[in-house]
Amino acid sequence: MTKIGFIGLGNMGGPMARNLLKGGHDVSVFDLSEVATGALRDAGATVVASAGDAAAGVDVVVSMLPAGHHVEAVYGGTNGVIARADKGTLLIDSSTIDVDTARKVASMAEAQGLAMVDAPVSGGVGGAEAGTLTFMVGGEAEAFARARPVLEHMGKNIFHAGGAGNGQAAKICNNMLLGISMIGTAEAFNLAEKLGLDAQTFFDISSTASGQCWSMTSYCPAAGPVPASPANNDYKPGFAAAMMLKDLRLAQAAAAGSKAPTPLGNEAASLYGLMEAAGKDGLDFSGIIKLLRGDI
Ligand code: NAD
Repeated sequence: MTKIGFIGLGNMGGPMARNLLKGGHDVSVFDLSEVATGALRDAGATVVASAGDAAAGVDVVVSMLPAGHHVEAVYGGTNGVIARADKGTLLIDSSTIDVDTARKVASMAEAQGLAMVDAPVSGGVGGAEAGTLTFMVGGEAEAFARARPVLEHMGKNIFHAGGAGNGQAAKICNNMLLGISMIGTAEAFNLAEKLGLDAQTFFDISSTASGQCWSMTSYCPAAGPVPASPANNDYKPGFAAAMMLKDLRLAQAAAAGSKAPTPLGNEAASLYGLMEAAGKDGLDFSGIIKLLRGDI
């Protein structure tokens, strides 16, 4: 049995911590929300009073927080995770945050002799509940090898992406590509409809031709061809446009910092920004087709 401190018990962290409990581990938890900690206490976790307390006396710390500044606040400071963790404790941050902060916090940990990996996920709340998340892990090979058995309780596909921050890099590059491909797919289906070509016919042709992509065949933004896609459920997420916009903005910040030209990523962020401005970013990200149709 591994002693684990878990910090951040929201939509993702809650079910992830529950899966660690189901795996037979001794889990101490902390969140600012008493509702969140109460639910984990009921599931068998020990609730502690601070992030530092969750890090003290455990083998592994896992965190699942909203953004980079939360991660920096939780790991830094005199009562933070890095100050309170024992030598030998492994730190795993699964939040989706900017690459620079991930690398900064990892080097703060390293300066104190602590191994740390960034391990952002894809798979959403459904994947967190089912324990089928994909983890993209950045950090030293030895730290990755230690993290793997813990991550296996929460996920199915676990990749080592390279050194510190590379998990975050993999996540934002993938999601930038996904955002761009979804907009392209939505444009194609919208144009097809305007030209009198129904969605199913266009799907049958394009899904076996060179326009084929995941956004079309697994998550079609037009209702009909892919029964499980959010388009058939009023664009209820799924993966909300707000989450896609967060990742696209992280990608743009990383692109500016590394001088990588990403003109389509920039345009994708602008278009999802219009969904946000219209108050429609709670829709699934495939709902971008509504913006193109003039329905938003
Ligand atoms: P959430 O807002 O539901 O949960 C975040 C939790 O962190 C909340 O319970 C909040 O109270 C807690 N928190 C904030 N500051 C804290 C602090 N200082 N100390 C302790 N707890 C604190 O968010 P979520 O949907 O669980 O997402 C978490 C991370 O996972 C984000 O980085 C997100 O981008 C990423 N992610 C989310 C999804 C998804 O589908 N929801 C998918 C992939 C990745």
